[in-house]
Amino acid sequence: MTARPLSDHARLSINDATTKVQWTLEEEIAGYSALGVHGISIWRDKLAACGVAKAARMLAEHGMTVTGLCRGGMFPSDTAAGRQAAIDDNRRAIDDAATIGAACLVLVVGGLPQGSKDIGAARGMVHDGIAAVLEHARAARVPLAIEPLHPMYAADRACVNTMGQANDLCDALGPGLGIALDVYHVWWDPDLEREIARAGKERLLAFHICDWLVPTRDLLLDRGMMGDGVIDIPQIRGWAEEAGYDGFHEVEIFSSENWWKRPAEEVVAVCKERYLTAV
Ligand code: ZN
Repeated sequence: MTARPLSDHARLSINDATTKVQWTLEEEIAGYSALGVHGISIWRDKLAACGVAKAARMLAEHGMTVTGLCRGGMFPSDTAAGRQAAIDDNRRAIDDAATIGAACLVLVVGGLPQGSKDIGAARGMVHDGIAAVLEHARAARVPLAIEPLHPMYAADRACVNTMGQANDLCDALGPGLGIALDVYHVWWDPDLEREIARAGKERLLAFHICDWLVPTRDLLLDRGMMGDGVIDIPQIRGWAEEAGYDGFHEVEIFSSENWWKRPAEEVVAVCKERYLTAV
């Protein structure tokens, strides 16, 4: 069922990669809030530049809901020391997510280790890496959200590429683990409706939105504004709502040649407008 149009911005969040080039985290917290956007998702590089304690204070002062911290993951490595370093880094990310009150830590799970052609082994390392940090996440009350990435990133960013794979990991590893559904990565999947229903309210921890442009000129940095591409976002939102999802909708647009070149205020204004017409 296609979702009914949204009528206000109460559940609009902006992932701070959307204004990555224009604004610092301090400017984003103040700017989004002043422009009527009360949800934010934060990348760790900007969080580190601001300082975790200062960010937590500013987020509270501005009444922002933190819909996610990006990102943990990147578990596979060709050495045991490399895999342990990833586990340690994920534990630090969990602690930071707890400090800023993030609704989840988004996991971009990682691709093939250097020189490897064994994607099955990489997927095993992802399973084992998540298993190694899950207890820490549960204790910190930070849910881990596996974000399946489009298969074009299977080698270098994430070897978990479908909602079905993410659901299988959740089945295997249990509570404290869920899924970040990003329409950009999963819109093409013939099993999408069924796997969203399978995930259900419990596992659907985040809903990321942007659009798939035709043609796409860059595999990483040419995401479209909602409404400018081919993704039926209301359809996918409808499936998520049927499954019980009632959380924020997080705009996440990496766009080096378009949106990152425009004033941040304009980008936020267009996000708000398209949120009501194309989401
Ligand atoms: Zn995303």
